[in-house]
Amino acid sequence: MFRIFHRRSLVVLLVISLFASFAIVAYATHSWGGYHWARTSNPFTLKIANNTNNGWPTYFNTSISDWDKSTVINFAPYVSTSSKRCAMVAGTVQVCNSTYGNNGWLGLASINIVDGTHITQGSAKMNDTYFNTSTYNNPNEKLHVMCQEVGHTFGLDHQSTDGSSQNTCMDYFSNTGANAGSTLSTHPNQHDYDELSIIYQHLDSTTTLAAPTTQAAGKSEVTDDPNSWGMLVSQSPNGRSSTYERYNSDGSKTITHVFWTEEVGARGNSDHRFDN
Ligand SMILES: [Zn+2]
Ligand SMILES: [Zn+2]
Repeated sequence: MFRIFHRRSLVVLLVISLFASFAIVAYATHSWGGYHWARTSNPFTLKIANNTNNGWPTYFNTSISDWDKSTVINFAPYVSTSSKRCAMVAGTVQVCNSTYGNNGWLGLASINIVDGTHITQGSAKMNDTYFNTSTYNNPNEKLHVMCQEVGHTFGLDHQSTDGSSQNTCMDYFSNTGANAGSTLSTHPNQHDYDELSIIYQHLDSTTTLAAPTTQAAGKSEVTDDPNSWGMLVSQSPNGRSSTYERYNSDGSKTITHVFWTEEVGARGNSDHRFDN
């Protein structure tokens, strides 16, 4: 009798856990390739450098306090002054703004990967060549792009690229023109926090995070020069979002997410580096 009961409850348990794992798989929809920082405990602390000026520190601070609401990541922000190149620093994320030129992109996020999925360093850049113009120079658009580029450096992908608002900064709603005053899509939403909890649920045996005192220069051959990004590996149908991959000489790879301007997106589905 006990044995029968036991077996039946085992079956029930199996069915429940099967459904539970389906639920998790179905929900894990916007991890960026499974990429994550290796760490041996949760929550973990990520060093993130504020290299910004020209009004950007406000958006940096808001975005970091937004992402800090995640139950798995804490931040150790520090002020730094990088060159325009925004060179990566091992174990950290570097956030920069500059007039990177009329190259078509508003924002750029790069992460270096080893062992297939582990992030070793990241950078997020905002292009003032466009943000200084009337179309993009508004607080909501700036906060949206800052929040998204920083979000990519933890391994998050977009929730949507079709221009609709999911009310997360990880979408491609434009806070410009008639929507310049809209605060939609300027912060993460609950789905982003849930996704981070899934991505960082497991623990690793090693860490790729910088210790609080280290400042080692990280190796990456990727810069804001589009020719350094490597191969185009994916692009959204509306042409506003592209991903590139480059293999570095040390065996790591660098993946770059490009947030193109509205004008560039309107050109369609070409590799926008070679549009002109
Ligand atoms: Zn891992
Ligand atoms: Zn993006």
